[in-house]
Amino acid sequence: MIAEPAGSASHRTTARLSAERRAVSLCAVTDQTPRGDSGPELAAVVANGTIDVPDFPQPGIVFKDLMPLFADGASFRRVVDGIVAHYPGGFDVVAGVEARGFVVAAAVAYATGTGVVPVRKAGKLPRKALSASYALEYGEATLEVHEDAFIAGQRVLVVDDVLATGGTAGAAIELVERAGGTVAGFTVLMELGFLDGRERLAPRTVHALLTV
Ligand code: AMP
Repeated sequence: MIAEPAGSASHRTTARLSAERRAVSLCAVTDQTPRGDSGPELAAVVANGTIDVPDFPQPGIVFKDLMPLFADGASFRRVVDGIVAHYPGGFDVVAGVEARGFVVAAAVAYATGTGVVPVRKAGKLPRKALSASYALEYGEATLEVHEDAFIAGQRVLVVDDVLATGGTAGAAIELVERAGGTVAGFTVLMELGFLDGRERLAPRTVHALLTV
């Protein structure tokens, strides 16, 4: 880990992702059939559409770049259809977590004829918003949603690209509930299993197309 002034934004980022680095290192020594909550075929689609980028955004970090998956029409459609199929009971609106969660959320919403609610980083929303802060290994981060984003009782599918420690997901779910929504599910394209985000979110269930 790079030595940085404690409390600085870059220090917090480095500290948070250092846990991911450990997880990715563990994953790298295994060579298993891709696995996920919608079966090995969809897990393989996500795995094949992901590029590991070492040393981004900090030295020693392996970033899971899903842009190739997003850019391939057939693969993107398969994962979006896989998410929709996992929720046969449906949902009324999709909440996407900034920023790559927006991409998935918008596609899922279009496929189901629902709408999208952005869950944004602090200071981005133009109107009155609810905030939820969550702990990183050192320091904290904040997400926000407009206070009138949901109709009371609306069933909300919360979507993000990667589940790591679960702090982001926990904050997003909290915001949905505080804003009056009912969480119908939480889904990600990829879960970094060794970081135990799924356990952190229990008893809520996580739908991950790929678990590494
Ligand atoms: P966490 O709060 O630790 O679960 O981190 C999840 C959030 O950070 C998601 O919004 C992801 O986009 C991002 N993230 C965390 N780790 C990675 C990673 N290794 N590669 C890409 N994105 C990540």
